[in-house]
Amino acid sequence: MLRAMFKRYTITFWATLFVGVVCLSLIAVDVWRSLIARDAQVQEIQRLTSNVARAMAQHADDTIKAADTSLADIVERIETDGLGAPALARVHRQMQAQVANLAQLAGLFVYDEGGQWLVNSRAVLGPSLNNADREYFVYHRTHDGRGPHVGEPVISRTSGKWIIPVSRRLNKADGSFGGVVLATLDIDYFSRFYQSFDIGARGAVALISNQGVLMVRRPFDDNRVGTSLRDNPLFQAYSARHGSGSGMFVSPYDDELRFNSYRALEHYPLFVTAALSQEEMLEHWRRDSFTRSIGVIVLAALLGFFGKRLVGQINLRVQAEAELRQARDQLEGANRTLERLAMQDGLTGLANRRQLDVTLGNEFSRAVRHADTLSFVMIDVDYFKQYNDLYGHGAGDDCLRTVSKLIRVLTPKRAGDVVARYGGEEIGILMPNTELAGALAVAERIRQAIEQLQTAHRGSPFGVLTISAGVAAITPRRGEHAAGMLVEAADKALYAAKAGGRNQVVAADGV
Ligand code: GH3
Ligand code: MG
Ligand code: MG
Repeated sequence: MLRAMFKRYTITFWATLFVGVVCLSLIAVDVWRSLIARDAQVQEIQRLTSNVARAMAQHADDTIKAADTSLADIVERIETDGLGAPALARVHRQMQAQVANLAQLAGLFVYDEGGQWLVNSRAVLGPSLNNADREYFVYHRTHDGRGPHVGEPVISRTSGKWIIPVSRRLNKADGSFGGVVLATLDIDYFSRFYQSFDIGARGAVALISNQGVLMVRRPFDDNRVGTSLRDNPLFQAYSARHGSGSGMFVSPYDDELRFNSYRALEHYPLFVTAALSQEEMLEHWRRDSFTRSIGVIVLAALLGFFGKRLVGQINLRVQAEAELRQARDQLEGANRTLERLAMQDGLTGLANRRQLDVTLGNEFSRAVRHADTLSFVMIDVDYFKQYNDLYGHGAGDDCLRTVSKLIRVLTPKRAGDVVARYGGEEIGILMPNTELAGALAVAERIRQAIEQLQTAHRGSPFGVLTISAGVAAITPRRGEHAAGMLVEAADKALYAAKAGGRNQVVAADGV
């Protein structure tokens, strides 16, 4: 069935199809490979941002935790030891040691319930500044909770730098508001850490409060710190889940589309986000795919070009073969015609003498091998010279043709039978596998048929055209007989028929 289908179309069609399929698969494989590479790259981006976010969250948690531990310590000490001068002096020393120890700590401060500081981590205690208006101060004054509070980033009144305030409430002995203990975290400390990540030129990371206030961001911009991200889709996505997650978000700061992984801090109401520019990250993939595609396209084009030429060559060959086949068929046809012409008599269409000789030779040999009997009839038109003389040579020819046709019709058409024009108006019939009686019957049938044609012949004593025939048969034996002997015997019998008065069939005596 497959063979039949294959044969239904030309080899050119299949070659074209093959070249086309190869070209297309080449391109398809490349596109597929490219898509897989892109997928891998996207997954790599997701893994990278997720890892960076995890590291940032851990770092922020640890950083704040360390400061908060100091706060809790100071609160406990003041609430136990009171605010006497020796106690404050001890707290002062403790604070200085803490600030020297923790790189993230910009300063530690203790404020009384009016917002005036009582002691801080500075070596020389300068003039008191009132911080009663600060958000964290107001918060603790109005909230009973003893836990840490992470405030919005502010510019320090003492250092003039951006800081993140972490604070705890100080209670008086009766449980009423006694002031605030404050630790200020250096935003630079976070920035430096965030600077160490390899997030590409267009990546971004940020620390954001659960209220949507931007604490720190890389790339760092003074003007951004403390701004609200409440309306940002990233913040809304985080707010909805309050854990970790990821997604594509457009940055409100630089309009860059990035893949973000965000993660909440474990202990503090903050979260971090790490974002890579998808475009930047896919740039390498894009360049790689582009060069590969060019290569594949060139390859496919070359393949197509040479494939087309190959198909053309195949086509030419197929055509040449078809033409060759046609030429051969024509030649064979011409050869057969020539052969036939060479073996045929032009006037009567009967076999000629040459063919008779060839067939006689073959049949004689066969008869020798199989001990078969071979018969030959020699026919001669009576008084034909006179017929020509009386009716003209053309009429003689017509007459010969009619006689020939009749003889052919009346001769059995078995393999090996040959009716041939032997000479001028002599016709021989070779009949292999035929006994003398059979041959005589055939000859007699012919003689009668021609007589019954009643072709007028004034030159003949019979008044009509007649023939005489001599018939001979032979069962030839090797070395004893030759093919010529059969014809000779028939000829002799014919002579006897003529001598006997014509219009008769005479059998040869024996060969
Ligand atoms: P017979 O009865 O003894 O055979 O007398 P005949 O006149 O037929 O004598 P023969 O057989 O010897 O004569 C042969 C004649 O046949 C000679 C020639 O005029 C004629 N003939 C031979 N070939 C052709 C031919 O191709 N066309 C025509 N029209 N006549 C031919
Ligand atoms: Mg004759
Ligand atoms: Mg003759």
